Amino acid sequence: MNIAVPKIQPLSQILPEEPLLMMGAGPVPIPQAVANANGIVINHLGETMGTIVQQMKSMAGYIFQTQSPWIVGVAGPGSAAMEMAVANLVWENTRVLSICNGFFSSRLAQMAERSGGEVKQLTVAEGNSVEAELIRQQVEEYRPRVITIVQGETSNTTYNHELAAIGAIAKEYNCYLIVDAVCTLSTMPLKMDEWHIDAVITGGQKGLSSIPGVSLVAFSEKAWQRINSRESQIPQWTLDAKLASNFWHKNSYHYTAPVSGLLALYEAMRLICDETLPKRFRRHLTCSKALQSAIEALGLELYIDQPNRLNSVVGIKLPQGLEAKTVCEHISKNYRVEIAGSFGPPIVRIGQMGEQCREHNLFRTIHALGSTFKDLGVNVDIPRGMAELENVLQREKM
Ligand SMILES: *Cc1c(COP(=O)(O)O)cnc(C)c1O
Repeated sequence: MNIAVPKIQPLSQILPEEPLLMMGAGPVPIPQAVANANGIVINHLGETMGTIVQQMKSMAGYIFQTQSPWIVGVAGPGSAAMEMAVANLVWENTRVLSICNGFFSSRLAQMAERSGGEVKQLTVAEGNSVEAELIRQQVEEYRPRVITIVQGETSNTTYNHELAAIGAIAKEYNCYLIVDAVCTLSTMPLKMDEWHIDAVITGGQKGLSSIPGVSLVAFSEKAWQRINSRESQIPQWTLDAKLASNFWHKNSYHYTAPVSGLLALYEAMRLICDETLPKRFRRHLTCSKALQSAIEALGLELYIDQPNRLNSVVGIKLPQGLEAKTVCEHISKNYRVEIAGSFGPPIVRIGQMGEQCREHNLFRTIHALGSTFKDLGVNVDIPRGMAELENVLQREKM
């Protein structure tokens, strides 16, 4: 029996004529330089790639704020970077304390369990961030070797703002601190060395404003020693950090690197270095604050209160009876703006990562959001929301 050729439409018939504005929780819009780089294929080993990898590591050192040379990449989503960090540092019977604020931080706990760790989950009540002193108590009691935590919990838009103090505790008790910064890296301060973090995880498609599918992990010198001295081999061959360092430190073969994606990430990081971190943090803060004020001025409510509110992704409470899916579909179809629903809480989410933090994108988004709620029968004040956006942006410029 022959399998017939399927009838396939060209992409142009499937994709919208005009690209949608990606204001959800990732992937985010990419700069043109990133898109151009993503269209190039080069030799994954030669001298050119060697130079590119070298410079990527120095840019990553700046962005992660670390002097550790142990920066490696992975061909895979943010989750692959999470697993790379966890599976290299956690094995049979490693005691792990996993701080669970929501969906992504719980994924770290699951990964630690699958790696053979004895995992104790510290579940933080919805809407709260974890307090450093609570972690100290837990560490005293449980004596973990590894602690996992997320800086920004994208799923419910909470922010763990005591990371610096948590890092100091991890150091005091000689624990290895693994931080998921997929959402937050380069949108807000994270100082890997100063805060004593042993592994920082990031992905391409969020804070860094690159494409999905190529991710980075930075290990501290202390973490690298643990990896080097472990007796059992990590079961996942592709995620083995020591093998990955063949490519990232010796210009030799581990697996064929995702060359186009690396070039895209190179350009994304170059743009971050051009902008500089302080200016980039300020742009993110200003845009996110303006967005939050404008949402409230529309007459809507934000999901998380200060100081636990994440700025990189903003959660908006849904008025009674309205479903996230209805709102997301309406705003996409009628206003060509994509926003995100959620994994659980009754909210919709708007991202403020990388290219999403541009004034023109904010105006279009607030207008689209206000109009969508109005269309769906919610009483919102669109002129007031638009004016508030302009007011906050003006004020911040003075
Ligand atoms: C998106 C996200 C991830 C997972 O990234 P994928 O690329 O979807 O695997 C992990 N952690 C956080 C905090 C995220 O926002």
